[in-house]
Amino acid sequence: MGPASNEPQRIAGLPVPDPCLSFWQQTTRSHPILHSNQDAPVPAEAEFVIIGSGLSGALTTFELVAAGVPPSDIVIFEAREAASGATSRNAGHVRPDAFRGFQMYEQLHGREQALKVIANEKLVFEKVGEFVREHGVPCDFNPTTTFDVCMTPEFADFNAQSLARYRAAGGDVSHVRFYAGDAAREATRVAGAVAAYEWPAGSVHPARLAQWLLARSLDRGVRLFTHCPATGLAESQTAAAAAGGKRWEVATPRGTTAAAAVVHCTNAFAPHLVPALARFVTPNRAQAHAFVPPPALSATGRLRSTMSLRHSLKHFYSVAQRAADGIVILGAPIANPRASPEAQAARLVPDDSFVSAEVRDDTLAHFAACFPACDPARLRLGEGLLHAWAGIVAMTPDSVPLVGPVPGRDGQWICAGFNGHGMARIFTCAPGVAKLILGGTWEDTGLPECFQMTEERLERAKAGS
Ligand SMILES: Cc1cc2nc3c(=O)[nH]c(=O)nc-3n(C[C@H](O)[C@H](O)[C@H](O)COP(=O)(O)OP(=O)(O)OC[C@H]3O[C@@H](n4cnc5c(N)ncnc54)[C@H](O)[C@@H]3O)c2cc1C
Repeated sequence: MGPASNEPQRIAGLPVPDPCLSFWQQTTRSHPILHSNQDAPVPAEAEFVIIGSGLSGALTTFELVAAGVPPSDIVIFEAREAASGATSRNAGHVRPDAFRGFQMYEQLHGREQALKVIANEKLVFEKVGEFVREHGVPCDFNPTTTFDVCMTPEFADFNAQSLARYRAAGGDVSHVRFYAGDAAREATRVAGAVAAYEWPAGSVHPARLAQWLLARSLDRGVRLFTHCPATGLAESQTAAAAAGGKRWEVATPRGTTAAAAVVHCTNAFAPHLVPALARFVTPNRAQAHAFVPPPALSATGRLRSTMSLRHSLKHFYSVAQRAADGIVILGAPIANPRASPEAQAARLVPDDSFVSAEVRDDTLAHFAACFPACDPARLRLGEGLLHAWAGIVAMTPDSVPLVGPVPGRDGQWICAGFNGHGMARIFTCAPGVAKLILGGTWEDTGLPECFQMTEERLERAKAGS
């Protein structure tokens, strides 16, 4: 039997309409905005159309309103329920890179930009904390420290080299602490740790953060249309548009909206409406897991710092134990270099409706190897895996996001391509794009120049590939 005729259909290049639910979504099912305007037709006109209601879209909207844009001028189109993309599916880490990526950024973008990329992440962590405190956002934000736990001598060497290069280039490492051997195992409690680095970072309930931002904007008069994918985008040919300046027609299954400004906050799905990004932004599946800890990791035994358990640059697991309820969130890329050919192939399938049993089992086994009290044989009924879910991250070949005007498409803007690391980037990128939309200069954004979407950047990637 085929699907019922009223079931949403899958459209190639857009998020699947039937995603699995994450732990973050499971714990916010009563939020009133989840299905805002889900059956309503879209307006014929709007000054601003924001496409995508994840953290990028939610914060860009919030910033536009904060800067004085009338809320009734803004509409948000979201393909699924509110904030149901990577934002509500991630591992909850707000974890700036303190130095590890420096070598790679330096190779890709030069020394000055690499320094700016790392400094920007530190700033984001500070900004998230300031914002949450200033507005009293109930999103379980937990500022603490994080460990980069080196699980192999090779990765310990790599990290040592990264830190040395970053420091030699003038990077600030005054907030980074180093532990070797026994000291690393004692500080992190990770059996098998070879070395560890510690610096300030935090965790958050990411869905609550995005939902709060959206709800605040909706209260003020912004209109959010959920289950409403933007399926097409074309320059308006009407006489009114010609007279009043360029307009873009955003097509959806519930009508077309002509807008003066369109902001692409669609992360991995940006290429659908911006074809120039077709080989630049690549969707990759990632997976996260919620785990109920045994007594050794409960109460005062809770892990107070988050961590990344690292075997190599591409083989790692993240761990963040929530202060609010003790649930441990375990993150993993869908295919580490040891994964089976099937798992490797599934990595590029842009579908978050299912989880990989292989990744789940590997993540749990690895966690138990690091924390033997979490061995399944020792767990009681009710402890252990609570839930597993998948999400889609947006990779770019030069490892940095796309922010600012879309070249050759006057009136279109982008804030996307976060390389699985948006929680440590969006809190400067979205305010930056809002500033640019309102006439600010790149300098006003304070962002690294390499984040700009330029034709030259796309060409360079093509040549490189
Ligand atoms: C399993 C997993 C773990 C992660 N862990 C971390 C972590 O610990 N720390 C970290 O920093 N980052 C992490 N990330 C990455 C982080 O979640 C993202 O970088 C960030 O959420 C991106 O936010 P966004 O708003 O740009 O994109 P999204 O949250 O993906 O939002 C884009 C929205 O656009 C909608 N959309 C797309 N196309 C259309 C269209 N045509 N019309 C209408 N709507 C559309 C989507 O439905 C979606 O809601 C993780 C991601 C995953 C999947």
